[in-house]
Amino acid sequence: MLVTGGAGYIGSHAAKALSRAGYRVVVYDNLLAGHREAVRFGELVEGDIADLERLRRTLTRIQADAVMHFAALLAVGESVREPATYYRNNVIGTLTLLEAMASARVRRFVFSSTCAVYGEPTKTPIDEGHPTRPINAYGETKLAIERALPHYARAYGLRAVALRYFNAAGADLDGELGEDHDPEIHLIPRAIEAATGGAPLEIFGDDYPTPDGTCLRDYVHVSDLAAAHVLALQSLTESSAGLTIFNLGSGQPSSVREVIAAVERVTGRTVAARLAARRPGDPAVLFATSERAHAELGWRPVRSTLDTVVRTAWNWHAAHPHGYVAQEHS
Ligand code: UDP
Repeated sequence: MLVTGGAGYIGSHAAKALSRAGYRVVVYDNLLAGHREAVRFGELVEGDIADLERLRRTLTRIQADAVMHFAALLAVGESVREPATYYRNNVIGTLTLLEAMASARVRRFVFSSTCAVYGEPTKTPIDEGHPTRPINAYGETKLAIERALPHYARAYGLRAVALRYFNAAGADLDGELGEDHDPEIHLIPRAIEAATGGAPLEIFGDDYPTPDGTCLRDYVHVSDLAAAHVLALQSLTESSAGLTIFNLGSGQPSSVREVIAAVERVTGRTVAARLAARRPGDPAVLFATSERAHAELGWRPVRSTLDTVVRTAWNWHAAHPHGYVAQEHS
């Protein structure tokens, strides 16, 4: 089983869940954003998804029968400023991976997609039938791959699942893995930094049409996401065909201000925050119904209350205040 991006945040949690479920995991990661220290559940192959030959050789050597594909650029704001980088990495990179899979005859594919494919929702909670009209380049690149997959499935016998994550958050309950982005852009780790003497949190807009004016998001625990990947892989049997799409969310909308309150509750500290301009590309409200994943995969988010998400993120931060590497050398 090849796990691209397995040194990253969601990929490393999935690698752990896969290895616990008995799969042999090989991580493929260029380590630009991923961390060598997060690869603890199988071999690491350092490589880029743009490298067709390296991918082909790796898939053949390890006799892969499936690929989970996490390697991607993921910052909404950056994707608006630098769409070319996003299209090159997320679209061309993934098509290169699919080509390597076709030539190595690897037919099972679990793809990391995103709620950003929906754009500004016309109806909430969002189900998989909701129209897909991304409002940022990040969402467009993920949707482009979703739209390619049925064609690859028909032509090359691919069997694929796309998992549309809502906001991945929290950290491994055992404290082995956590979130370590550089720069950190996500709300919960930034709020934790602000609570521990770091830069004050900027609240990106409080004039959205929501109850407290700040954006509503659906924070889903990263280990719940990891569990869904194992179930999705197991659903790709000989008889499955084409592409199946699942939302993965907690189903609970939380505002930026509610997240700040949760961080203050869990840490017992004050989050220094100030109002800032809206961030381009941010819809006001995103939250899921994951009924399909429940009905077809038997998946339920069991760790995704806001307090559990924040508590595990806080535990990780307290044990690794400078992330993976600094911890190792301290
Ligand atoms: N957000 C914020 N300040 C920050 C980071 C994020 O107000 O420093 C808001 C952001 O506008 C969005 C929500 O928090 O409404 C979640 O953003 P995040 O970057 O964590 O995830 P995304 O929704 O982009 O995947």
